[in-house]
Amino acid sequence: MTDCIFCKIALKKISAKVLYEDEVSVAFEDIHPQAPVHVLVIPKKHISKILEIEEEDNALIGHLFQVANKIAREKGIAESGFRLMVNCNSDGGQVIYHLHLHLLGGRPIGPMVCRHF
Ligand code: AMP
Ligand code: ZN
Repeated sequence: MTDCIFCKIALKKISAKVLYEDEVSVAFEDIHPQAPVHVLVIPKKHISKILEIEEEDNALIGHLFQVANKIAREKGIAESGFRLMVNCNSDGGQVIYHLHLHLLGGRPIGPMVCRHF
């Protein structure tokens, strides 16, 4: 999608601190980190939000979790723990309408609250 910032990151049209990339996904540092580790994991395919995930995307979504696991281990937060979060629509705090997993860790993330990231 031409005016999507995360599509542009996936296509290298704008820069990001990319930690991992393969044919179907990219993981990069969040520009406004909310924790010592704050990484976004995205599909290269433009899926705007959770509600737009289709059956055919199921393997891709599972793959995004595998990428998050890999980064959590590489960042040394697998054992201490982390949170994987996906916001959806305005009440969910979604700002960028390209599906992304927030990987947060490196400090206690605390109780689950409605918080805007
Ligand atoms: P959400 O509120 O779930 O849509 O999260 C969007 C996230 O994208 C926020 O945590 C932003 O800090 C992050 N973000 C926005 N623009 C960029 C960018 N160019 N590079 C990296 N992260 C970004
Ligand atoms: Zn996109």
